[in-house]
Amino acid sequence: MRNRCSRCILPADLPGISLDQDGVCNYCRDSKSNDNSDTPSMSKEQMIKRLEDVLDKLRGKGKYDCLVPLSGGKESCYILYTLVKKYNMTPLAFNFNNGFQHKDAVVNIENLVDKAGVDLVIYKPRRDIMMKLFRKFMTVAGEYCTPCNMLINATSFRLAREYKIRAVMSGNYGAIDPGLEGMSPSRYYDRRYYFNVVGDLLSLREAERYVVPSYVRTAIGRLVGTAPQVINVLEFLQPSLAEIHNVLDAIGWKRPGGAIQHGDCIINPVKEYLICRRWGCTETTALYSSLVRNGEMSRQEALEKDAAETEEQSHCPSVLPEFLKNIDLTEEEFNEAVKKDFREIPNMRSSLLFRLAKKTVQKIGQLRGREYS
Ligand SMILES: [Zn+2]
Repeated sequence: MRNRCSRCILPADLPGISLDQDGVCNYCRDSKSNDNSDTPSMSKEQMIKRLEDVLDKLRGKGKYDCLVPLSGGKESCYILYTLVKKYNMTPLAFNFNNGFQHKDAVVNIENLVDKAGVDLVIYKPRRDIMMKLFRKFMTVAGEYCTPCNMLINATSFRLAREYKIRAVMSGNYGAIDPGLEGMSPSRYYDRRYYFNVVGDLLSLREAERYVVPSYVRTAIGRLVGTAPQVINVLEFLQPSLAEIHNVLDAIGWKRPGGAIQHGDCIINPVKEYLICRRWGCTETTALYSSLVRNGEMSRQEALEKDAAETEEQSHCPSVLPEFLKNIDLTEEEFNEAVKKDFREIPNMRSSLLFRLAKKTVQKIGQLRGREYS
């Protein structure tokens, strides 16, 4: 049987996981040390108060108070609805359509923006370029999520500039979706990584639309007030998964495609299949581990659900042939891509100087009551 953390269910042989002498993994140890530093309820109250202060500074200052990227998935829908109904904000919603959007996600978005009374901008980039990017990332890095992640950020920044919006509300939430090393390129990619993969596939003009501005430009923009803050709303509110679902149920949100997570993108099963072939588990293994850690699921239930999920994802997903046809990739090329590891491609985040610079800018942001995460 696979050796796993004795508290959650993370397998010990995954990259970035280390068990202590009691068999407890680093994710569980980190969350425990947070509990010791403060009482959880106090810390949560303080975090909510900090968010309220940040929102007070944004409210009523322009045509829109903030920009909310809206995928139609659970986190973004929860954030939009909560900001409008609980915090009286006037956001502009922004939906990015990568050409593989699930129809249930579209229904969720339309339903939500109508209910919340919010303007929506839809952005669908050129299909031929997206397919070329997916192909390139698959063959070079063995993943295809970065083109969308990058473009959502780049477009958010562009819209913020165009509409003079001072904050982008992000849906990152480490407590539920920690993004495991080797599985989630979203915690790894940046401009250096991006250009190391695409080379000169994009023209300079295209790159301006498809890629976020450099960190230096963004950092300077933030210091002089021209680049938006990025606010991880869920990191402040710290809702449980049940709390998120309570809100979503009340507004008639539907799980896209019935998937456990990321069902808004119909090619997500290909990503799970890739992860399953590489690591023998799925992204939901991280989700179930988080739920055990947060006390929302028993370890036994998590083990059972994870086994069923891993078994299901280990089979070739029905959407794979269509995806390969769209991005012009053969099955042999796909099998080669499975062997790739995106962490072998150099990025900027791993450099010490960069991390130091980013921390300094974040600190300045905190002193000014802003979020430069
Ligand atoms: Zn653990």
